[in-house]
Amino acid sequence: MPASVPQRLDRTESQTCRVVSDCYAASGDNHDMRAVLIEQYNVMPTVVEVPAPSISPDGAVLRVQATGLCRSDWHGWQGHDSDITLPHVPGHEIAGTIAEIGSDVAGWSVGDRVTVPFVCACGQCEQCRSGNSQVCLEQQQPGFTYPGSFAEFVAVPHAAVNLVRLPDEIGFVAAAALGCRFATAYRGVTGVAGVQAGEWLTVFGCGGVGLSAVMIAAALGARVIAVDVNPAALSAAGRFGAEHAILFDHETPGRIRDITTGGAQVTMDALGSAAVVEASLRSLRPRGRHVQIGLLPGNTTVDVGALIGRELQWLGSHGMAARDYPQLLSLVRSAAVRPAELVTRVIGLDEVPAALVAMSDASPTGVTVICPGEQAGRHDGRDQQQPGCDSVQPEVVSGGGHDENRQHRVEEDPPAMPSGAEAKGRPGHE
Ligand SMILES: [Zn+2]
Ligand SMILES: [Zn+2]
Repeated sequence: MPASVPQRLDRTESQTCRVVSDCYAASGDNHDMRAVLIEQYNVMPTVVEVPAPSISPDGAVLRVQATGLCRSDWHGWQGHDSDITLPHVPGHEIAGTIAEIGSDVAGWSVGDRVTVPFVCACGQCEQCRSGNSQVCLEQQQPGFTYPGSFAEFVAVPHAAVNLVRLPDEIGFVAAAALGCRFATAYRGVTGVAGVQAGEWLTVFGCGGVGLSAVMIAAALGARVIAVDVNPAALSAAGRFGAEHAILFDHETPGRIRDITTGGAQVTMDALGSAAVVEASLRSLRPRGRHVQIGLLPGNTTVDVGALIGRELQWLGSHGMAARDYPQLLSLVRSAAVRPAELVTRVIGLDEVPAALVAMSDASPTGVTVICPGEQAGRHDGRDQQQPGCDSVQPEVVSGGGHDENRQHRVEEDPPAMPSGAEAKGRPGHE
């Protein structure tokens, strides 16, 4: 194992070892920390003491100040992610301060406020050298390929490549949403689709990624149509800048072609659904671009004839490179986009196991952010200045237009956009 690879929990030892700290392949002189530990798939995790990660010469160790709870964490707990080995600490939407910095890393100091992409890149491979570290060939992902941020500390490999400095005016809670859903939406709208001011963008699925895309595209001057099956989610999309918000049914493509006088220039599947893919391609004008962010079921078919005959582009999008964060951060600083408004709940580590389990059923509304410095029951707005958590005032987005309950909603509420979120492979961060 190269020195730069953060240690992971040892799977072989875990088969027999009952003492978690004995299983953790960290250096022996490190202190312990509290973390959410998954020891068996689909069994409630526990909050236990494990050794904190050790520092490598080119890495960093962060004190986690805030970390988002994403649908892909639930997929990992369910055993849907082949990159995870047990026992395991989830968590990949990270904002924190540098607790330790490797001896080879220049330009960073203990105490610096940072975030990191959920794809931590190597900085050396051909994709990294071309500026596309979001598809790094040697990528590591906290909370998937090594222990993540539902803990007091988390390691960051290749720190010079992956650390992103946070401006003082962006709080930790808002920043926790940037590492995955908001950054994914930003790159999907800008770097992948190249949405221009005045173009029509139709966003299918108004969960965390979808609402982020609505907010970002509207701020950049695009004309946005939001589509979902839940009126409350559409109401949220309207507040975040969608010009039109329409319930999904079989007439949706026709309505979009009418509204846009011939079809949208860009469509986005922020859900992961075969029905959405089909509707998207029918909603595009000739030479339109479709961005796929939600993971699709394995048997999904794409109308290749439509791609050819109307010269449509079908584009995949995966996270965002650390080097592209400054543009997004400047948009956040300008208050043109407000990721903190997606956050409806701030919890402590002790509440994570129940929150994760609850995502199997009807989950709490909105995006949940975990502050490991928080204690259970102390996050109701009175303690917004507590150490470990910044002063975001969660704004309740009514009705749950978010990832935590979209899947449940889609399954129950007709008309349905069938969800592809259960597909095998790397689960989407929808
Ligand atoms: Zn690389
Ligand atoms: Zn995620």
